[in-house]
Amino acid sequence: MTSTTIAPPKVRQTKMLIGGQWRESQGGKSFATINPVNETVIAQVPDGNAADVDAAVKAARTAFESGPWHTMDARDRGRLMNKLADLMESNLDELAGLETLDNGKPISDSKAADLPLAVDCLRYYAGWADKLTGDTIPVRGNYFCYTRREPVGVAGQIIPWNFPILMAAWKWGPALAAGCTVVMKPAEQTPLSCLRMAELAQEAGFPDGVINVVTGDGKTGAAIVKHPGVDKIAFTGHYETAQKIMVDAAGTLKRLTFELGGKSPNVVFADADLDAAVAGAEFGLFFNQGQCCCAGSRLFVEQSIYEKFVEKVVARAKTRHLGDPFDTQTTQGPQVDHDQFTKIMSYIDKGKSEGAQCLTGGRRFGEKGFFIEPTVFGNVTDNMSIARDEIFGPVLSILPFKDANEIIERANSTYYGLAAAVWTRDVAKAHKFAASVRAGTVWINCYDVFDAAAPFGGFKMSGMGRECGEIALSNYTELKTVTMSLT
Ligand code: ADP
Repeated sequence: MTSTTIAPPKVRQTKMLIGGQWRESQGGKSFATINPVNETVIAQVPDGNAADVDAAVKAARTAFESGPWHTMDARDRGRLMNKLADLMESNLDELAGLETLDNGKPISDSKAADLPLAVDCLRYYAGWADKLTGDTIPVRGNYFCYTRREPVGVAGQIIPWNFPILMAAWKWGPALAAGCTVVMKPAEQTPLSCLRMAELAQEAGFPDGVINVVTGDGKTGAAIVKHPGVDKIAFTGHYETAQKIMVDAAGTLKRLTFELGGKSPNVVFADADLDAAVAGAEFGLFFNQGQCCCAGSRLFVEQSIYEKFVEKVVARAKTRHLGDPFDTQTTQGPQVDHDQFTKIMSYIDKGKSEGAQCLTGGRRFGEKGFFIEPTVFGNVTDNMSIARDEIFGPVLSILPFKDANEIIERANSTYYGLAAAVWTRDVAKAHKFAASVRAGTVWINCYDVFDAAAPFGGFKMSGMGRECGEIALSNYTELKTVTMSLT
């Protein structure tokens, strides 16, 4: 493949969307969003304060209570969602370019993964808009009893920077299909694609106030969480932030769903298709610069194939193409920001000082931007920091294991439980592992296979509730029981 460098798109929208108006912050403050490739300022974005959040919540409440949203024919809501999906598809190059500009991910990934998955998610949930039905309940006595599924109200949605457009689609999809209105806060590192997506929603014809986007950092998020006019919070991010959100939401007993971090085990048995497993090990960890909550960051390899397998993984890691994310050949861009860069480098230092073997990488790449070499540690033991903590970067820890008997306990010895994978040709072994591992998603002979129809979320400290699939609609609905006397 020849290398082509694509020009970054023009940044068209940098204001917040509140009640159909594009606004600056009422506090007059803004913050810079930084290009992770060269550390320059891309744009200034409003730093939303409590007054902005209040205005957004009021607009969302009005749209919910007296606006045309949840009383609109459900088919029309679905049609608008499909229209937004169509507009995102016809502006795919621009949206993918914004994602790459703001986040640093390779343009080939933005185009082939983030955008198509986001479009698909909106279409999937558009199809649900007119399919939310209740039940008739055979109660004792002469009564007619049925249930209705009603929208929960105003949804506060707080998303991270690793998949900005996709996370927005995962959250808007079920909320809008259920008839909720939305106040979204994108991450301060990557607000641009969400603002443009909101602009396209406006173009699609969403009524004012149905979708509001307030930009800002954690304090803006906290103002959404504390606001009494918000009925539900959907959050994706770090578990420590989720803990703060639980405390802040307690006063108003908001409904909460969380999708948090992970330290996912990726287990390779000796009887696996080893080349496929090597490819899965690389993709499962290094995809998106290792900035995936479900990254296969603990690679367990059966002792009898350990040496051979590790050699192949290291060779493969060395083929990764670091550089300008707008170059179509690049497979690894920079980390998102300076904080992440520093945190990852400190874990690399800990890996070295705690006695793991650094087999490749381990250094900064280049002199500008937040690039880190693909890093592989061998002979990692379960108690090392790099085997326990979520690093959220291109750092793979490889741990040898003896046999099927010990692997489940070791795979489960983490407070996380988001995802797991197993590579084997033995069907019984694969399903036994799938049944025993404490994780919300298990991949067998594959990794990072996502679909809007397939639920995703965590056991233990990896989250509460599920996103995607039919089940995510229940995050945005209340069940009402209606009983009528027939006498
Ligand atoms: P990460 O470590 O991936 O940046 P965070 O949990 O810090 O994850 O951030 C995820 C999202 O949560 C971002 O949009 C961030 O601004 C927001 N956020 C951070 N702190 C809070 C908070 N106290 N309340 C609500 N949202 C917050």
